[in-house]
Amino acid sequence: MQSFFEHSILQRAKNKGILEVHLHNIRDHSTNKHKQIDDYQFGGGAGMVMMIEPILACIESLQKERKYDEIIYMTPDGELLNQKMVNSLSLKENIIILSGHYKGIDERLREHIVTREISIGSYVLSGGELPAAVLVDAIGRLIPGVLNDETSALTDSFQDNLLAPPVYTRPADYNGWQVPDVLLSGNDKLIEEWRHQQSMERTQKRRPDLLEND
Ligand code: SAH
Repeated sequence: MQSFFEHSILQRAKNKGILEVHLHNIRDHSTNKHKQIDDYQFGGGAGMVMMIEPILACIESLQKERKYDEIIYMTPDGELLNQKMVNSLSLKENIIILSGHYKGIDERLREHIVTREISIGSYVLSGGELPAAVLVDAIGRLIPGVLNDETSALTDSFQDNLLAPPVYTRPADYNGWQVPDVLLSGNDKLIEEWRHQQSMERTQKRRPDLLEND
């Protein structure tokens, strides 16, 4: 996980000092000598549950250093992540993202400590690290200075509830595969209209649900 953050686009943001990502191992906060962080579920059944104490100890040690705007638990039964949520989270100062394992975390943490629950899709992964990395990447790239061309994020899919239009680069003719003429016309107004039209068509065809929302 460390290496994902070191080799992603977010490393540049870290080098520039505009984003900090710190990884914390819950096990370092276990309260017993076996470094135990999970236990059997009450009521029986397969699968371990992450215990309250180590998670709380970790969160409290972080809260001693700074104030957090959100404590987010990544979980398949959370709110489905979308661009709108990412946009609003990118405006926050400090966020804790909690990754579960096994059957998940003790429900009482979700009731009393977690402020928001987010799912990255309707499927179950074995741990919350990948979902947390997805969230960090999605948020991080919106912070001004992270992407080379800052306006680029604004023309990506889901901003304005539309999918992005198709993009092309050189050569304009690849063995007969042509780039649409309008993109070579130099007429900014026509190009913008064409892109908007393409976005609308693509959204209608692939994701009509986006046009119905809000
Ligand atoms: N028993 C849980 C699944 C636990 S999966 C249930 O049925 O809902 C173990 C951990 O992986 C979870 O605690 C969560 O942090 C993470 N995880 C798995 N799938 C995820 C998803 N789609 N979105 C976000 N987090 C997920």
